[in-house]
Amino acid sequence: MEKQELRNLLLDAFKELRKEEKFIARANFMCCQSCASYDIWESARKNYFKSRKRGYVYWHRQDEDDFWRSGTMFLAYGSFNEEKDEVEDDEVQMKSPLSCKDVGVKILLALAKRGVRVEWNGEDSQRIRVAV
Ligand SMILES: [Zn+2]
Repeated sequence: MEKQELRNLLLDAFKELRKEEKFIARANFMCCQSCASYDIWESARKNYFKSRKRGYVYWHRQDEDDFWRSGTMFLAYGSFNEEKDEVEDDEVQMKSPLSCKDVGVKILLALAKRGVRVEWNGEDSQRIRVAV
């Protein structure tokens, strides 16, 4: 599979995940994992009562660069599910019905359906690896 073809399949899977699963799905998003993660959580929180996003998946700009070099892409993902003991009055606690693992499985299925080769051990702590 060509890199461009794989990238297009990822974009297509992201489109489905946005529509069918209420995920935030972003490609080539922000400079690095900590900026991307911060921004995605903030935007989910800000729009929570309107949009009730359930999870997220993205790759960031460093991943994009690595991908064009190596043909391997790493996807970060997670669930907007917060378990806090104490919540401030003006704080939003997001409660996705999905666990992180559920989110990973949804991503896996969307990719498998498109014939994308996926490596993932099913652990929340590991990013999903796809390769040409
Ligand atoms: Zn950054």
